[in-house]
Amino acid sequence: MQVSVAAELRLFLKPARRGGPVRVGCDGVSSLGHVVQSLGVPLTEVGRLVVNGRPVPPRYRPGGGDVVEVGAVDRPQLVPGARFILDVHLGTLARRLRLVGVDATYANDAGDDALVEDANAGRRILLTQDRGLLRRRALWLGAYVYGAHPDDQLADVLDRFTPLLAPWTRCPACNGLLCPVPKAEVEPLLQPGTRRTCQAFSRCGTCGQVYWRGAHSKRLEALIASAQRAVHTVTRIPRNNRTQQGPAGEHRAGP
Ligand SMILES: [Zn+2]
Repeated sequence: MQVSVAAELRLFLKPARRGGPVRVGCDGVSSLGHVVQSLGVPLTEVGRLVVNGRPVPPRYRPGGGDVVEVGAVDRPQLVPGARFILDVHLGTLARRLRLVGVDATYANDAGDDALVEDANAGRRILLTQDRGLLRRRALWLGAYVYGAHPDDQLADVLDRFTPLLAPWTRCPACNGLLCPVPKAEVEPLLQPGTRRTCQAFSRCGTCGQVYWRGAHSKRLEALIASAQRAVHTVTRIPRNNRTQQGPAGEHRAGP
C-alpha cells in the first residue's frame, strides 16, 4: 500500500522516508493504526485516517492496493478541564505552564512506568518528546511536544490544547494553588526593598512558598502576555462556555 503522511508528522519517519508517499508491505492482519505506529508516528499525533478517499478508524485492516493518507491531530484538541503530567526532560516547560495557571505535575525522578500510571490515574495528558512513551498501549492520552526551547514548547502546548489560563494562581515550584496573603503575615520574610515596593503577596497552599511581583516580573509578565495571545488566537469556542477556572488576571484564591 501507499502511505502519505501529513507534513507536520514527517519528523517521526526515518529521514529517507520524509520526501513523499511511503510504500509499505501488507500482511493482511495488522490494523492501520499498527502500520502507522510501526512507521514511527505515535497515534496520539494522528487525526484523520483516509483510505482510498474514505475516512477509516485505526482498527481498519489495509489491503495491498490501498492508498492511505495520515492526517495530524486536529488543533485545538479540546479536552475539557485539560491537565497535564510532564516527563522528566520537560521541567522548564512544567514551570511555565504553572506560571500561566495550567495544572501541570512533574517529578524529575519519575520512571516511564510511573509516569504512565500517574497520567492514567489522574486523567492527565502526558506531555513528552519520547515517542516510545506515546506508543504505550496503556496510555490514556498523550501528546508529543514540538520545539527544543521552552518558549516554543509552551506555545505548542497552548496552541494544541488551548487551556484556560489563570496566571499567578499556581506555584511554579510545586503546582500547588496560591492564595493571597496579607502583607503583615509575610513581612518578617521580606528584604527591606521588597517590603517597601510590593503590596500584593500570595502563598502556596502546598509548599508554603511566598510570591510577589518583584524584579523578575517584567520578563514573566511578557511570557504570560505572549501565552494569552497564543491561546486567544487559536481559541474557536466562546470562552464563557468553558468551565475550568475564573478569568485570567491577577492573584486569585484557588481552587
Ligand atoms: Zn508550592
